[in-house]
Parts: sequence; structure tokens; C-alpha cells
Amino acid sequence: MSTPRIPRETRPAGTESTRGGAPAGLEPLAVLPVFVPLQGKRAVLAGSNGGAPWKVKLLAAAGAHVDVYAPEPSDELRAVPGEIVAGSVTLHERQWHADDLAGSAFCIGAMEDEDDCIAFVAAARATGAIVNAVDRPHLCDVKFGAIVNRSPMVVGISTEGAAPVFGQTVRARIEGMLPRGFKAWIGAARDWREEVTSRFHGFSDRRAFWERFTDRAFAEPDRVPTDRDLAELLGQTEAAPKGGAVTLVGAGPGDAELLTLKALRALRNADVILYDDLVAPEILDYARREARTMLVGKTGHGPSCRQDDINALMVQLAKSGKQVVRLKSGDPLVFGRAGEEIDACRAAGILVSVVPGVSAAQGAAASLCVSLTHRDAARRLQYVTGHDRRGALPEDLNWGALADPSVTTVVYMPKKTLGVLLERAIAEGLAPATPALLVFNATRPNQQVVEGTAQDLATRVEAAGLDGPALLMVGDALRRGDAEAAIAAIEPDKLAI
Ligand code: SAH
Repeated sequence: MSTPRIPRETRPAGTESTRGGAPAGLEPLAVLPVFVPLQGKRAVLAGSNGGAPWKVKLLAAAGAHVDVYAPEPSDELRAVPGEIVAGSVTLHERQWHADDLAGSAFCIGAMEDEDDCIAFVAAARATGAIVNAVDRPHLCDVKFGAIVNRSPMVVGISTEGAAPVFGQTVRARIEGMLPRGFKAWIGAARDWREEVTSRFHGFSDRRAFWERFTDRAFAEPDRVPTDRDLAELLGQTEAAPKGGAVTLVGAGPGDAELLTLKALRALRNADVILYDDLVAPEILDYARREARTMLVGKTGHGPSCRQDDINALMVQLAKSGKQVVRLKSGDPLVFGRAGEEIDACRAAGILVSVVPGVSAAQGAAASLCVSLTHRDAARRLQYVTGHDRRGALPEDLNWGALADPSVTTVVYMPKKTLGVLLERAIAEGLAPATPALLVFNATRPNQQVVEGTAQDLATRVEAAGLDGPALLMVGDALRRGDAEAAIAAIEPDKLAI
């Protein structure tokens, strides 16, 4: 087997590049979220302003032993020691002293007086504690966010003061998304971790166990997990076939929301993702952060990989035990050379499966709101390639089928041969006035449509001078009033003509 040419390698957004050179792609963070373990540690809160009682409860809930120094505690603050269920709270009804802060891991200033607070913050910093001051962001080392508590899983949310109400709404939504029963499942994960780790030595087996575990938690969030779950999940993981595999995954035409749930799962499970250059970059954001992503584009622009190299690389990675996702635009089985990739895997004895995707034709039809098989206009739907192996108009197209008045034709890769293809179809009997569209960048924010007829579309496309992947759609089904209305309803900047 020849050594595959090394494809360009990139990392999904938010991942550090391990090769140097390429930027890490991490967007700016307003704050760094970190999580502070306080179990059994000492914390101090001084003062008794309005925010004090809640902060004391939070510190205690995190397992801290909290000393509160407040010469004149509010009734609410006085009640706190009786309300807590974790950690401890001791109320000292006096002014704080610098000595009080020794050995504390976390200090909060909650006094009304700014100078007193400044002095407190300075004394707290001198002890090496983490410091927060209620309602005084300028004095804080760290700030509190909104919380969704499914301990041991904790979600923290911050808008860095930009939009507190927005943050609260996000918090409420996340509350709704995470069933309360997750608490028990995540607790079980913590209790079972050691056993799972000792049972499975390989990373992929462990991951397979935890994926099964997570599926079960999502399927039955409100059932308390038992030792029987543990035994079943261990057994299933042991019985599952081992080794690498290849999954051909349809990425859809661009809009990431068109990914299937199965595609998402495959992306999350992948060790390596080999993707085509027509795959929209945001789709790769759904990969695991640790996954290797490799561009193996072969659309003929710039350096590209030969199909044989891609096949060899795919097989080699799977043989070394990797879960390989071959991510292809649209549906993998539509003009994607999937047949060759499947054959290569089978020939090498590699397990191969396919996750379908939304093909560009379906994406384009949906965004135009046209029925491709409207019963008044079309009896048949056909997908045709505008290219042969050399990039020329295929000699062996069925011209009778292209001229059929009751067909809707979608031509993939139509750009180079658009003029000759339509001319020949007309010569073979296609009515020159048949509606024809060229849809660029279907389902993407920069989608554009050039409208015309079989007769004049090529000229219109040339005049429009647009760029990007495009589909030709021809047929009476595209003439329908609703289709025209839909096209008219597309935002003007998406309409070239
Ligand atoms: N498997 C893909 C097709 C791959 S062939 C699918 O099912 O959609 C590549 C061709 O697909 C491109 O030349 C173009 O004709 C079409 N295509 C892919 N994505 C597209 C998009 N977002 N908009 C328009 N055409 C697209």
C-alpha cells in the first residue's frame, strides 16, 4: 500500500493546535470559568449587606466552614446557620479583624462601607485567599455566576454583567434541559469510575462504557441507577466488537442544524475526522475537542488528495484502532464516491457504516419551499451529474429523460457545463421556457438564487458572477406560484437576479 499524501490538518474551533503554526481558533473569552473546590475548607464573609445571606449559603453548600463577621446581622443572615444542609456556618456578631482571615481559602466582603471593604479585600489577599466583594466588581478577583446544580455536575453561567436577565433565562432553559435525576446518574458515575477504570485498560473501551452509561442516563433520567446497571453496562462493553471502524457521515449542505442526531453522535465518538472541503466549518465544532480533523478535499481547487490516498488513510487509521468519521457534504451516498470508500474498507476487513445526510437538493428545495414532485407538474425526480471523470459534460446522460416534461431534474456539479447541458437538453426536446434555477450555497447564510428558464439561465448565471457550490434545478415543478412567492420572499441580498 502506498503511503497516503498527508492532507491539510486543522482543529475544530476552540481547540489548541498541537502542531503549532495554525492559530488555535479559540474565540476571546470575557472571563475564564473555573470551579473552586471548597469541601472542608475555611471561608470568611464579613458584613451583612443584602447579598450576604445568599453568598453564605453558597459557600456552605460547597462544603466550606464559613465564619461570618457582622456587628449588626440582618434577620435573614441570622437565620442562615439554621438553614444549611452542608458545610457549617458560625455567626460572630462583631467587626472583622485581620487575624480572623488566617487560613481561609475564600473571603467575601459584604459590607456597606467602601473603605471597610477595601481594607478587608487587602487583608484577605494578604492571606492568599480568593476574594470576592458583593456588588463591587472592581474589588473582586472572582465573580459568581448563575448556577444549575446537579451535583456532582455543576453548570455555571456568566454574561460578565452584560445581560443578567438573559443569563437568568439561559439558566432556566438549562435547568429544563437537565432532568433532576441526572444528579443520581452523575453520582453513580463518580462511584463507579474506579471499577470501570480497573476493568478496562484501553481508552476506547472506557469511552465506550461511558457512552453507554450516558445513553442510559438520557433514556431513563428519573430512574435511580443500580448495581445491575453497572453490571449490564460492563457486560455490554466487554461483549462489543473491538477495534477501529469507519463511519461515512452526511454533513448536509451547510446549515449545521440539518445534521442528524446520529451524525452528531458519530462526530462526538470520532477519534479522527476526514472531511471534504464542501463541509461547512461550523459542523466540525460538534466534534470532540480531542478529535483530529483532517481536510481531504478533492474538488480540484488547490492541493487536494487523490481518492486512493483518502481510502488508504482511512483504512490505515481504522486498522490502528481509531474510530474514523469520513465526513462528506450532503448525503454520503449521493455523488460522494462513497462506493469506493466502502469497498476499500470491506477489502481491508474494516467495519464500515453510513449515516445519511440531507443532500444539497433537499436543502435547496426546502429553503425555496418548492415541492420537487408537485403532482400537477412532476411524475419523477432525477439527480444528474454535470461532470464526468474529466470534468466534461458526461456523454452518456439520458437526454430523453432530461427532456421529459414531467420530470424535475437536479444537476450536481453543474457550473462548468451549464450552458452546453441546457442547450443539448433543449435540442433533445426540453421546452426552452421550462423554469430553471441555479442555487448557490444552499442552506448557508450566503445562499443565492439565479432564476431563469432553460433557455436563458446560463447567460443570467454568467452575468451574476456568483461563487460557491451550486445546484441546477430544472422542471415545471419550479414554476409553481408558491415557488415564485417563496423565491420572492428570500431576503433581497440572497437573490442575485
Ligand atoms: N454528497 C453531496 C454532493 C457532493 S457532489 C450531496 O448529497 O449534496 C458536490 C456538489 O454538490 C457540488 O458541486 C454542488 O453541486 C452540490 N452541493 C453541495 N453542497 C451544496 C450547497 N450547499 N449548495 C449548492 N450545491 C451544493
